[in-house]
Amino acid sequence: MMINVTRSSMPAFDEYMEEIKEVWDSRWLTNMGPKHKQFQEQLKAFLEVDNVDLFCNGHMALEMAIQAMGLTGEVITTPFTFASTTHAIVRNGLTPVFCDIEPDTYTIDTSKIEALITDKTSAIIPVHVYGNVCNIEEIERIAKKHGLKVVFDAAHAFGEKYKGRGIGSFGDASMFSFHATKVFHSVEGGAVCFHDEAFGLDLYRLKNFGIRGPETVDAVGANAKMNEFSAAMGICNLRHLEGEIAKRKEAAHRYRKHLEGVAGLKLPFKQDTVNYNYAYFPVLFDKEVFGKSRDEVAEKLAENGIGARKYFYPICNDFDCYKDKYDVNDTPVARDVALKVLTLPLYADLVLEDVDRICKIILGK
Ligand SMILES: *Cc1c(COP(=O)(O)O)cnc(C)c1O
Repeated sequence: MMINVTRSSMPAFDEYMEEIKEVWDSRWLTNMGPKHKQFQEQLKAFLEVDNVDLFCNGHMALEMAIQAMGLTGEVITTPFTFASTTHAIVRNGLTPVFCDIEPDTYTIDTSKIEALITDKTSAIIPVHVYGNVCNIEEIERIAKKHGLKVVFDAAHAFGEKYKGRGIGSFGDASMFSFHATKVFHSVEGGAVCFHDEAFGLDLYRLKNFGIRGPETVDAVGANAKMNEFSAAMGICNLRHLEGEIAKRKEAAHRYRKHLEGVAGLKLPFKQDTVNYNYAYFPVLFDKEVFGKSRDEVAEKLAENGIGARKYFYPICNDFDCYKDKYDVNDTPVARDVALKVLTLPLYADLVLEDVDRICKIILGK
């Protein structure tokens, strides 16, 4: 039996059927219908944020947030993220400027941000990588000092709290992804959390073709609306999220039990200010000490039907579409982590005996 790196959480079939019954009968399938409204309200309360708007996916949520913010010129971000973060910047006609990451949390190294700021810089787009929270205080201090906007890519951090505050409540905006492979999903989906209501109106308009009123189209928008079937899936999955995270936590602890203290392995960092969602279990393999490289371990697991993922490798400044303009040696920590990291299977239904088996294979027992 094949084990993938992730497996979508599902509500009971009947629960979902019940949830979409009204959609079926009403024939209101999209365009901000009742399920969209309900899901939005529930998320606002759950995430403890001022405002939240829903999108067809996390990527479009981020693209539209950047557009609505009216950013210009250069945006400071990190290359150690999913393709989406960098693409969202570039697709808005902006230039990403890559800052290196911290060696423990893999989030933006705030001590290196200020050296990258020019008179063209308009924003910082940091990423809460693997659910590790960025150095928010320092990012906000730098942003304030230089008059920059901050948009957090919080795709990995859904449901987390930082120092007791909802993770979506920081910065000018935060983006979540509800993709099927994430801790929480609506099949496809995403959200932007924000404080400023005027920004919210622009954002709302952009996701619906820039239409302001029945006879007014005053912005170059796109179509990035969440449909009713996705909203219904989100409503169902939100009911079970806590239980799903608890199960992920157990599997993560099982990994730690086997792998903690093994020379040459670096396990996920733990920030005591964060209520983790246990989205990922990234392990760094140091061949010199451990004896086997990341690639060798990945191959061994694959031979046994276990799909671990080199996530993130390659890093964004090494992509074919960007590497002419950038040099991975400018972000040496990200470059080195990308060569060593392997994200192990982790999902709510992962059987603990399978974690045992995966660890045995990794350790060559
Ligand atoms: C998943 C993800 C995205 C994009 O979200 P989608 O819903 O897949 O479009 C963006 N950034 C990060 C860090 C992600 O993991």
